[in-house]
This record gives sequence, structure tokens and C-alpha cells, in this order.
Amino acid sequence: MSTAGQVIRCKAAVAWEAGKPLSIETIEVAPPQKHEVRIKILFTALCHTDVYYWECKGYTPLFPRILGHEASGIVESVGEGVTDLMPGDHVLPIFTGECKECKHCLSEESNNMCDLLRINCDRGVMLADGKTRFSINGQPIYHFVGTSTFSQYTVVHVGQVAKINPNAPLDKVCPISCGICTGFGATVNVAKPRKGQTVAIFGLGAVGLAAAEGARVCGASRIIAVDLNPKRFEEAKKFGITEFVNPNDYNKPVQEVIVEMTGGGVDRSVECTGSVQAMISAFECVHDGWGVCVLVGVPKIDDAFKTHPMNLLSERTLKGAFYGNYKPRTDIPLVVEKYLNKELGLDMDKFITHSVPFAEINKAFDLMLKGIGLRCMIHLDA
Ligand code: NAD
Ligand code: ZN
Repeated sequence: MSTAGQVIRCKAAVAWEAGKPLSIETIEVAPPQKHEVRIKILFTALCHTDVYYWECKGYTPLFPRILGHEASGIVESVGEGVTDLMPGDHVLPIFTGECKECKHCLSEESNNMCDLLRINCDRGVMLADGKTRFSINGQPIYHFVGTSTFSQYTVVHVGQVAKINPNAPLDKVCPISCGICTGFGATVNVAKPRKGQTVAIFGLGAVGLAAAEGARVCGASRIIAVDLNPKRFEEAKKFGITEFVNPNDYNKPVQEVIVEMTGGGVDRSVECTGSVQAMISAFECVHDGWGVCVLVGVPKIDDAFKTHPMNLLSERTLKGAFYGNYKPRTDIPLVVEKYLNKELGLDMDKFITHSVPFAEINKAFDLMLKGIGLRCMIHLDA
């Protein structure tokens, strides 16, 4: 029996308060409105951005809220005006959108800064009517980055949905919706190391290791990984990294260590930590004349990036990359296609180090807070 047009009751992991374990509740999910899609989420994983907004340090609290943005699922029903998706389509919800109509979406130079659907972590409601589609006993539950994938059903704006090949295994391609594309794209689309060049990667979570995979695929000769957590180095050995540097092992700034190791600096660096100190080091460790540094991590709310302007005048380039510079609806189906054709050069299995049934979602938070593993796949149907 079709559930289209009806309220669906299902399980969701609700964050009631900052930093408190999520609680599995039965919630009500309203039907999709104009330009919205209701998706049955099958797999979701935790990214550090969820943890930031769950901890809510320095951010305006918005609770109760359903977090989650790295996920895969199947369209259950579509709202008015949705023409390019239908029930049964396999999809990845994306935390930032592509309306295909605004100045950014139409630009050849801008990739994913859509005026309408650019990521917004502070908005907890849908654009169509300023309301939530989730409720519990009549009490609204806020959305998160328009995706809220810690729910068996969610409602997402059509501009934040990438339709993918139904042959793609949804558990494997789930991290493509955030961590993989963010890191991999930052290297291959933005840092663009040439064959034989040296690349430093700061931060060895899933995003950083995806960036390292990008460097390997581009043919980097040396991939130097920097992390404060030595436990990360074991995992990272599977990723073609050639050298490891723990800033805590030296009594000088890590950028100086890297400049010495490489005789003047690396050709490219990609920062995937969220630490402003690491961002500065990542920039200051690239070679003068041509070095390019790409920032990916999400900084703390009052952070400021400080470097001497001479570092830029001496022909270093500092860039930032959002979602790996991919266009969510246009490019992501193609990334999945490349993955299926084994042309991406990426082994998704290496990123999925843990898996838990939905009821144990808090374990994924524990693992990330302890810096254990990369992505913990949460099975919403289990
Ligand atoms: P993660 O927590 O799994 O990994 C971060 C790693 O950085 C950890 O191993 C940690 O030990 C290391 N680290 C922290 N401070 C460091 C320092 N000063 N020097 C060296 N290493 C340090 O996180 P993740 O899920 O891989 O995400 C990485 C970052 O990317 C986060 O800031 C996340 O919010 C951000 N992110 C950005 C985008 C985007 O589009 N720009 C998208 C998704 C995630
Ligand atoms: Zn747009």
C-alpha cells in the first residue's frame, strides 16, 4: 500500500539536548511539500560536522533536532513540482544543494555555492513554509542541513538530492554523499597535484584519508600525513601514505618540520582537521613560487586565520574547498558511476571500519569522539 500523501510513523534518533546521547523515538514524518522529496533512509554514517552541531559549542542551540547528512536511501514519494525524481529512485541526500537556476548554479566558475540551497546549519525548518516535517506528539523537531538522515524517513528539498544508478550498493556509496567527495574532491578538483608532486594531508579522519586517496590517484610521489592522534597512523597505512608526522613529537612548528623534510615545502597541502592551527601550518608548509594549500575543515566559530602576508606574496596560493568543489546534483551521480566502473580509484571498503544497527547509533558518536575508525555505517532497517 502506498504511503504517499500520508503521515509516516517511523523511528528516528532525536537529539534533545547538546552533547546528550541521541534517543530513538517514534516520530511522525509529514508528506513532502512543493519541491520536496520524502526518502526512506537505509544507511547513514556520522561525520564530524554532525558532532559539532550536536556538541553545539559556541553555536546557537536548536533542539530537539534530527542530525545526520551522510546517507543513502530510496525515494518514497515526491511533492508537487518534482519532475526529475520518482518513488523507487535510489538517491544520496546532500547537505548543500544545487537549484540549477541561481547565479552560482549557472556559473561555470562557481560549483556549489547555490544561493537558494547552500548549506545552512542554523536553519531547522523547510524552505517551502518555514515549518518542520518531523514531529513527536505534535511537538516539532528541527531539521539539520536540510537532510536529517538519522531517521528512517526524511524530507529533503529536491535540489539536495542526487539520483544515482540503482546498481550502486547503497551501503558502500553512502560516504560519497559527504566525507569521500569532500576530501577526494579537495585534492583532485582543487589542489590538483601533478604526477610526481609532494602532498601533505592534515587530519586523518575519513575526509583527510579521502584527500590522501585523491593524491595517490593523481600520482603524488610523497604523501605526508599529519595528525595529533597516533592511533590514526595505523589505519592510514592502508591509504598509500608514505610518511607520518605527529606535531607533538617536535618542539618546533610542524610547518618547519615539513619544509625541512621536503627541501623547501610540499607542492600541495590539504587541511582536513577543523583546527585553525593546522590550517595555518598547512598553508605555511607549501613551497613558495607554486605551492597550493586547500582548507576543508570547519573551524570553530571565533577562529581567525593569521599568517604573514609575505607568505602569499611569495606566490603561495591559499584556497578553500566546499564539498570537494562538486555540484551536488550534476556531479555526484557521475562520481557514483565512476565508482561502479572502478574508474574512481577508490576502495570504499577501507573507509567503512565499523557498522551498527540503528538502535546503537550512539556508539558511532563514541567512536568518533575517541578517534577510533573512520566511518561507522548505521543500518536504519536493522
Ligand atoms: P575526524 O574527526 O574523523 O578527523 C579529523 C582528524 O584531524 C582527527 O584524526 C584529529 O586527530 C585530527 N586533528 C585535529 N586537530 C589537529 C591538528 N591541530 N593537527 C593535526 N591533526 C589534527 O573528522 P572528519 O569527519 O574526517 O572531518 C574532517 C573535517 O572536515 C571536520 O572539520 C569536518 O567538519 C570537515 N568537513 C568539511 C566539509 C566541507 O565541505 N568543507 C564537509 C565535511 C566535513
Ligand atoms: Zn542555485
